Amino acid sequence: MNVLKGIAASSGIAIARAYRLVEPDLSFEKKTIVDTALEVERLQAALNTSKTELEAIREKANIELGADKAAIFEAHLLVLSDPELITPIENKINTERVNAEQALKEIADMFIAMFEQMDNEYMKERAADIRDVTKRVLSHLLGVQIVNASMISEEAIVVAEDLTPSDTAQLNRKFVKGFTTNIGGRTSHSAIMARSMEIPAVVGTKSATVEIQNGDVIIVDGLKGEIHINPTSEVLDHYEKEQIRFEEQKAEWAKLVNEKTISADGHHVELAANIGTPDDLEGVANNGGEGIGLYRTEFLYMGRNELPSEEEQFESYKAVLEGMNGKPVVVRTLDIGGDKELPYLELPKEMNPFLGFRAIRLCLEEQDLFRTQLRALLRASSYGNLKIMFPMIATLDEFRAAKTILEEEKQKLVSEGITVSDHIELGIMVEIPSTAVLADQFAKEVDFFSIGTNDLIQYTMAADRMNERVSYLYQPYSPAILRLVKMVIDAAHHEGKWVGMCGEMAGDETAIPLLLGLGLDEFSMSATSILKARSQIAQLSKKDMEDLAEKALKMSTTKEVIEAVKESIV
Ligand code: PEP
Ligand code: MG
Repeated sequence: MNVLKGIAASSGIAIARAYRLVEPDLSFEKKTIVDTALEVERLQAALNTSKTELEAIREKANIELGADKAAIFEAHLLVLSDPELITPIENKINTERVNAEQALKEIADMFIAMFEQMDNEYMKERAADIRDVTKRVLSHLLGVQIVNASMISEEAIVVAEDLTPSDTAQLNRKFVKGFTTNIGGRTSHSAIMARSMEIPAVVGTKSATVEIQNGDVIIVDGLKGEIHINPTSEVLDHYEKEQIRFEEQKAEWAKLVNEKTISADGHHVELAANIGTPDDLEGVANNGGEGIGLYRTEFLYMGRNELPSEEEQFESYKAVLEGMNGKPVVVRTLDIGGDKELPYLELPKEMNPFLGFRAIRLCLEEQDLFRTQLRALLRASSYGNLKIMFPMIATLDEFRAAKTILEEEKQKLVSEGITVSDHIELGIMVEIPSTAVLADQFAKEVDFFSIGTNDLIQYTMAADRMNERVSYLYQPYSPAILRLVKMVIDAAHHEGKWVGMCGEMAGDETAIPLLLGLGLDEFSMSATSILKARSQIAQLSKKDMEDLAEKALKMSTTKEVIEAVKESIV
């Protein structure tokens, strides 16, 4: 088979050779050894190869990523030459006559358990170092290769079972031209990050890691959601032309970068961007974002071993607020959980992490963590137009509790003589059906809503947003979802409040006509979708879209809605 179908997760066309980012099989059996001297030699050889490999990686990391990233590999080299670890492994081979793999694993596990129990962050990190080094030595004993996303140094298409948000953050944009995964959907966080990094991606192919070998020539068609493996020269030619066409189209949209977003009949809506870090601001400016509609602060907490300090957070929030020059910036408080894990919080594994102890639920319980973030935000508020929103609000009690904590921190700061803006709007994400249904009550107490359709759809349809097998149920244009969206918008407008949407639906070309018709005020999306959306809205009449939305709300299936949208915009 040389075409794989998947979900178009990030638009554009990428052509390069495959780099499989797949965990190797490091399983082995315990064996009794006759010639123990030979077995110790085998261990030494694996240690030496690992050492040479790590030295090369360290040098490369030093040049490409800087000394602080290279320090990790320095620590690994120290572990490799530590007699306190190596001698007991050799002794075990000699006295118990077990194979090198078994001896290595038993001794390493003992040290890992010992370090992990210590109440000291530095020692806990040593456990992680030993784990990594053991994997590397084992891979050499077993003759398999291990992989590392950050070390890709030639143009490549990454092929993986799945990519966690932190894997995605490590991808070097200079070399990684695109990626494809077996699992995931349009709203999994790796897909969202691919869009903000402007890397074409196709997710949910089910079998990319089975069908694709290292070095295969791969075309990622992030527009249609297709992967071509070792294409013929005709297909390659066709896609090279498509790539040029896509770039020309982008150049056309780019002309709208300094324009406002106005419908054909003169109605203004705001097109804002979703960001994960202050580094994304450049993309927002290049794509003409009129504000930040969602700053996912959890990325500040990821890819590290401890919580970010108040000072560190303050600097990030201040950088974003200053960078946006007075334009609105909606910062969402920590939304950890679901597919976004923080290993250092050591939260127990849950059966249903998407329905579990996450986001505001965790923040209301772990108040130190929450208060630190709120203080950093409040201190940053005087540097721009800050709006704060709480994620995963299910009840008014949760909103009130979070608001009280925010006010307490504000009072404390003011009494310490620190300036805090008096104009911080306070809103909530509407991503749980109970909140959408009760929007009329919430609307009396919040300053704004931002509809988080990524979660709202999964909770309304009871269909995991990460699971490609139920992706057929993930239906943004379902009349059921449209009715919920309408309830939220009408409830807010009734109280004179504004409504945004920061789920991926806000940047979707089939949804945009409906949302315009339903009266959405702010559309927040990946920065790379903004110009295309602006060009689309300029061609739509709000009045006509109101008629379309009214009809769609009375329809019974998603298919009918899609047909109606298509008919109305040709
Ligand atoms: C959402 O649920 O729509 C949303 C924007 O939040 P996230 O994708 O981070 O869960
Ligand atoms: Mg969400």
